Amino acid sequence: MSHFTYKDGALFAENVALRDIAQQFGTPAYVYSKAAFTDNFSAYANACAENRRGDAGALVCYSVKSNSNLAVLNLLSRLGSGFDIVSGGELQRVIAAGGDPRKVIFSGVGKSAEEMRLALAHDILCFNVESVGELHRLNDVAGDVGKQAPVSLRVNPNVDAKTHPYISTGLKENKFGIDFDEAMAAYQLAASLPHLKVVGIDCHIGSQLLDDAPLLEALDKVIELIDRLAAEGIHLHHLDIGGGIGITYANEKPVPIGDYLARLFRKVDQWRAAKHNGAPIQVMFEPGRSIAGNAGILLTEVQYLKHGSTKNFAIVDAAMNDLMRPAMYEAWHGVQPVLQRTGSTKIYDVVGPVCESGDWLARQRELAIEQGDLLAIMSAGAYGMTMASNYNTRGRAVEVMVDGDRVHLIRRREAATELYALESVLP
Ligand SMILES: *Cc1c(COP(=O)(O)O)cnc(C)c1O
Repeated sequence: MSHFTYKDGALFAENVALRDIAQQFGTPAYVYSKAAFTDNFSAYANACAENRRGDAGALVCYSVKSNSNLAVLNLLSRLGSGFDIVSGGELQRVIAAGGDPRKVIFSGVGKSAEEMRLALAHDILCFNVESVGELHRLNDVAGDVGKQAPVSLRVNPNVDAKTHPYISTGLKENKFGIDFDEAMAAYQLAASLPHLKVVGIDCHIGSQLLDDAPLLEALDKVIELIDRLAAEGIHLHHLDIGGGIGITYANEKPVPIGDYLARLFRKVDQWRAAKHNGAPIQVMFEPGRSIAGNAGILLTEVQYLKHGSTKNFAIVDAAMNDLMRPAMYEAWHGVQPVLQRTGSTKIYDVVGPVCESGDWLARQRELAIEQGDLLAIMSAGAYGMTMASNYNTRGRAVEVMVDGDRVHLIRRREAATELYALESVLP
């Protein structure tokens, strides 16, 4: 169920009119729905519970990079979420938001020694190691601080996720993970290093997957590897299948989370019964987009309409620096008028004020709009604000979270002076 719906021709976030939010907070504004975040997280949590998984049996680690606002992290933490981070900065955010570092897993191909020290100081749950070089560095850093680092190896199961090449990560030719054929040797090395403790295995084959077949195929390969490792005396405590379930931007029909998790847990249960006398293994997930994506919109105001001989442009006050996905991935976002007009429609490209031809938010959309109208760029809750920049010295958008009939400011708009506050001129 969407929490962004029309009532009498006006678009609402839960029980608050978006027009009122624009009036109070200005535009551009990211507007999130607390109920949507809660529902989306609960789809995972409930499916874990229905498949008889307590905390020890399954852990959902929200992917912080999809939307890392403190209010979002705090909300998910209170719902019981763990966190998948990709930098030391994200760890500091999780802690600042009240998240439990012992439920944090640390992914990413380029962890620095400093980031490793920070994560070790906070006793995070696990490092998802992506290369042999990283194993050696982590062993050294852990030795320095007198700890044993819990590690999982991110393996690359070489499964085609059939998604956009920029967001497909599970094939041999990309920079992520350790080649499946080299995984055994890497595990043997990890097991031999004194300051590492091998605890798990993970993979993440891509993002915006609509079908769970590639994920279940990856699971089969991971299972086979876990059994081969066990035969060599390396016993794993958890398996982490990554994130990746997609959302509806236009008319995509992603597999329901409950169906995917039921199939996944059935496979795991059958395998554990057949090969491990039913001994359990903890299963982890790293969802981002499927929790945050449809929990937020980008609210923007039409500044000018330009009617040309070949094209019409709606120039709005949000731009590629606010929402990078169209420019970066040619991503499609729905565009909804905040107040529905009856008048005649035209076909518009919705573009921002940034000095780049790539600065567009939507193309070829049929809209009945006038200057000063408000538009909602839909499905902007994930990889929206977290990818925003200050290009063209544009302050980043304000962020608000709606809860029923209340609106909470969760990040104020940046002032221009703040954008150059860290800079200095030559003496
Ligand atoms: C980005 C990322 C995720 C989240 O992916 P979604 O498609 O947003 O669910 C999970 N794990 C890793 C390692 C990632 O890099």
